Amino acid sequence: MTYNALRLYIGGEDAIRQVAMAKLYTSELAFHVADECVQIHGGYGYITEFPAERALRDARLGPIGGTSEVMREIIGRTLGL
Ligand SMILES: Cc1cc2nc3c(=O)[nH]c(=O)nc-3n(C[C@H](O)[C@H](O)[C@H](O)COP(=O)(O)OP(=O)(O)OC[C@H]3O[C@@H](n4cnc5c(N)ncnc54)[C@H](O)[C@@H]3O)c2cc1C
Repeated sequence: MTYNALRLYIGGEDAIRQVAMAKLYTSELAFHVADECVQIHGGYGYITEFPAERALRDARLGPIGGTSEVMREIIGRTLGL
């Protein structure tokens, strides 16, 4: 999905929807994966002494910076909704 968005953008095509879809999907997936990592590690995943906690906190920025809600707005707008 990301490479497809990049290919369109480099080719000079309108890639706004594909970029927003890639941003939305990958940032939410990264958070989900990090959350699963914390869950697998249990209490050790939660405390700051282990890197899983940091990975989850870092991944949480994805849906905040260029927010998921705004990505959905952009996708909806390009679909005429
Ligand atoms: C650690 C960190 C690093 C950052 N680094 C950068 C950087 O390098 N460059 C940069 O440009 N910015 C950076 N930012 C800022 C980041 O882009 C903003 O946090 C982001 O744009 C969200 O803006 P906001 O925090 O003001 O939240 P708000 O805009 O106040 O949003 C709060 C909530 O309201 C929702 N919301 C807002 N407007 C709408 C709407 N129209 N429809 C539906 N929901 C809406 C949002 O989705 C979100 O859930 C960084 C932020 C952080 C925390």
